[in-house]
Amino acid sequence: MSNDRPRLKLQPGGDKRAMLGHPWIFSNELVMDAAAKALPPGEIVTVIRPDGRPLGAAFFNPHSLIAARLLTRDADRAIDEAFLHKRLQRALKLRDRLIGAPFYRLVHAEADGFPGCTIDRFGDVVVVEPNSAGADRLIEPLVAALDRLLKPRTIVISGDGPARTLEGLAPIHHIAKGTLDGAVELQEHGAHFLADLAEGQKTGWFYDQRDNRLLAARFAKDADVLDLYSYSGGFGVQSARHGAKSVLSVDRSQPALELARRAAALNGTADRYATESAEAFEFLEQAGGEHRTFDLVMADPPAFVKSKKDFHQGGRAYRKLARLCAARVRTGGFLFLASCSHHMPAEEFRTQVARGLHEAGRSGRILHATGAAPDHPVHPMLPESAYLKALLLQVD
Ligand code: SAH
Repeated sequence: MSNDRPRLKLQPGGDKRAMLGHPWIFSNELVMDAAAKALPPGEIVTVIRPDGRPLGAAFFNPHSLIAARLLTRDADRAIDEAFLHKRLQRALKLRDRLIGAPFYRLVHAEADGFPGCTIDRFGDVVVVEPNSAGADRLIEPLVAALDRLLKPRTIVISGDGPARTLEGLAPIHHIAKGTLDGAVELQEHGAHFLADLAEGQKTGWFYDQRDNRLLAARFAKDADVLDLYSYSGGFGVQSARHGAKSVLSVDRSQPALELARRAAALNGTADRYATESAEAFEFLEQAGGEHRTFDLVMADPPAFVKSKKDFHQGGRAYRKLARLCAARVRTGGFLFLASCSHHMPAEEFRTQVARGLHEAGRSGRILHATGAAPDHPVHPMLPESAYLKALLLQVD
């Protein structure tokens, strides 16, 4: 071994999961001596197996339960701009093949070999979200590698989610290259949308639902459509483009609805598109009181299960949402429901949806059970990173 990085030794037996291909090492699997604890969060280290042989190079964070995130099993590999460039190139090649138009998640963390880091692409604007201390420290060579590969007009560094908090990182938002003026345009399956990437707005776009938006839109022809938790119109506007008679997008965020209305206009569907700013459950209760019904109801809420302790409460919320939504679907109509909760397994989500449907006094059948689009790949050893679950049902 010829590198001079700090070395971290695994406890006896602490290399078991890593030797099976797992990319994380938990703090209790490492010898956390004073020297290890003193390392700065995000330091790149060489992980040493209990028998003294090197395991690989990893991001280290002494303050996180996920203490080490493996970057490569080639322990001597330099982790520099060239390394990052190569990983970016691989990710880009895959997206070119999967999607074609330059609007996608370019890098989806561990599954793309970038532990705790995502990168979204909006044509010539790129947004990097460093959610691990290691990614945070590598921002400079990462920006340089991105710049060399894509020559984007603008590179935004942004992150304010719970993942940063777990790593002991403060929220960040700054522009590493170029400028941002106004919302940026993006395309999905031929539709045009707008995303506001500026500070203070809910940033970005949820590319993970790209294919599900098209899937749901296939049931929108001549339909009256309700798009709950619409954000900036991803589902609703795609449905309008696919021949919906009317679309109502409901969200409690006015700025998100403003972008949704602009997107409807960009797609020439403004005449069939309306928005309402409301709390989703209140909207559903009121629509119930008024016996309002729709041919297609779609609900893509924020995560109801934010941590393991909310599991039961969140499950009940999904069940209630399914019940209230199912009650608004006309006989023979369609219902699309999604969960982006990491801590809600697909089986449990399906169970709650089935119970909600039954509690609404309705029956039906699941036509599609899907997840995130493939520009959000899943590391084979991290099945829990397949956070997005979606069901499309016909309702009797
Ligand atoms: N369906 C969207 C993504 C939804 S993200 C898409 O395709 O892009 C979740 C959305 O729910 C956000 O826009 C947020 O403003 C909205 N939201 C969160 N809580 C809400 C509530 N209680 N009532 C209505 N909208 C809510």
